[in-house]
Amino acid sequence: MSALVAIVGRPNVGKSTLFNRLVGYNKAMVDDQPGVTRDRNYAQVKVRGKPVTLVDTGGFDPDLKAGLTALVREQTMMALEEADLTVFLADGRQGLNPHDRELLDLLRRSGRPFLLAVNKIDGPEKEAALADFYALGVEPVWPVSAAHGYGVRDFIDYLAGLLPEAEEETPPEGLVRVGVIGRPNVGKSSLVNRLLGEERTLVAETPGTTRDPVDVTVEHRGRFYLLVDTAGIRRKGRVSLKLEKYSVMRALKSLERCDVALLLVDSVEGITDQDAHVAGYALDRGRGLILVFNKWDLIKDQRAELKKIKASLELKMKFLSFAPFLSVSALTGLRTGRIFGLIDEVFAQYSFRAPTGQVNRVLEQAVLAHIPPYVGRSRLKFYYGTQVSTRPPTFVLFANRPDKVHFSYQRYLTNSFREAFGLDKVPVRVLLRPRPKKER
Ligand code: GDP
Repeated sequence: MSALVAIVGRPNVGKSTLFNRLVGYNKAMVDDQPGVTRDRNYAQVKVRGKPVTLVDTGGFDPDLKAGLTALVREQTMMALEEADLTVFLADGRQGLNPHDRELLDLLRRSGRPFLLAVNKIDGPEKEAALADFYALGVEPVWPVSAAHGYGVRDFIDYLAGLLPEAEEETPPEGLVRVGVIGRPNVGKSSLVNRLLGEERTLVAETPGTTRDPVDVTVEHRGRFYLLVDTAGIRRKGRVSLKLEKYSVMRALKSLERCDVALLLVDSVEGITDQDAHVAGYALDRGRGLILVFNKWDLIKDQRAELKKIKASLELKMKFLSFAPFLSVSALTGLRTGRIFGLIDEVFAQYSFRAPTGQVNRVLEQAVLAHIPPYVGRSRLKFYYGTQVSTRPPTFVLFANRPDKVHFSYQRYLTNSFREAFGLDKVPVRVLLRPRPKKER
C-alpha cells in the first residue's frame, strides 16, 4: 500500500516546483511495464524505499485574481482529510501571511499529521526570514528551496521517517474487496445504497480508524464483499466533495485497497478525460476493473448510445479493452443485480493461478506458432516461465535477451496466456528476465 502525501499551501508558494523536485529525487517506481498514466498532479514514487503517492494540489489552485481564499481553505481541508501526511508549504520570501496562519490553524486543529516547510529559502543566509514561522510554535520548520534544491534532501529524510513502513495489506480470506470510484455526481453513493439494499445482502459496518476509512461488508448469495471506503463515498454536503480534482485523490485511495474497482461513468455525459485517467491508474495499480455506465434510465436511444460508448472506449480506453462494461441505473435498479456476478467473474480471473507445467506448455506452443526473431546473430530464446504472483496474474519468462524482446512480441505472449487460461477480463502481466546466473 502506498501512503498518500499531499502538498498544500496558498497559490504561488511553489507547490508544483517542490512536487517536481520530490518526484525527480525519488525515482519513479521501476516496473517492466511502464504506466499509462502521466499526470502533473499525481505521481507514484518511492521515498527512501517507501511507496508514496504524491499529490500536488497546486494543479487545483483557483485563479488568484478571483481571491478565492475560501476555496483554498476547502482544498486544504479536503487534502487533509484524504492524505496520510500533508505538507504545508509557505513562501519564505513573502514571509508569514495571515492566510498561512489561518490554514495552519486548520491543520493543527485537524489532529492529522502534517509538516511545515518554508520555500524559497535559497541558502543559509536566507534563513533569517524564518523567524516568524518559528514563532508559530509548529515544530519542526523545514526551510527548503524547491527551485534550487537547498534543504530538500534533509526534508525528504524527515518526511520518510514519518511514513508508515511499506507493507502489503493482507487480503482478507474469502472476501472480495470492491472499490466504487468515479467523478462527483456520477451516482457512487446511489449505487452503494443499491448494492447494500439488494435482496439477501447482509451488511456489517467495520469501525474506522483515522488511517482506515470505514468499509462495509456485504453478503450476497453466500459470498462476502468488502465495499472499501463506503463512508467516504456517502459523506455528503460539503463543497470540497464537489471538487472534481479531488475525486481522483479519493479514487487513488480506493485503488490502493481494492481487488476490483467499479468505475462509474455518467452515461449522459459519456467518458470524460478524467474517467480515462482514473481507469489508467487502475491499470497501473494492476486492479480488476469494471466500467459501469450509470443513469442508463436517462438514455433515450439506447442502441445508438451503446454504439457511441463502444466507439469512445476504443478511442479513449484502448489500453483497457479487457475491462467489461455494464449499463445500469442506480436509481431504478436496472441491471444492478448483475454487478455482483460480474465482480465474481472478474475476481476469479484476477486470483487465477496456473501450475508451472501449464505455463511452460503455453509458452512452448506460443513460441512454436510464432518463432521469435533474431537479435544480432543469435535467435531470441525463451528458456522457461512461471507464474510469480496473482491479483493480477503475473508471469515471468526467462530469456537470453529479455531487453531485446519487442513490445509487440511481448504483447503476443501476453495474449497467448490470456487465451490459454481464459483471462479475458483482467489485466495480465508478463515480465521478462535474464536466466538466473548459476543456471547459465
Ligand atoms: P456521487 O457523488 O457519485 O456519490 O453521486 P450520487 O449518488 O450522490 O448521485 C448524484 C445525483 O445523481 C443524485 O441526484 C442521484 O439521485 C442521481 N442519480 C444517481 N444514479 C442515478 C441513475 O441511475 N439515474 C438517474 N436518473 N439519476 C441518478
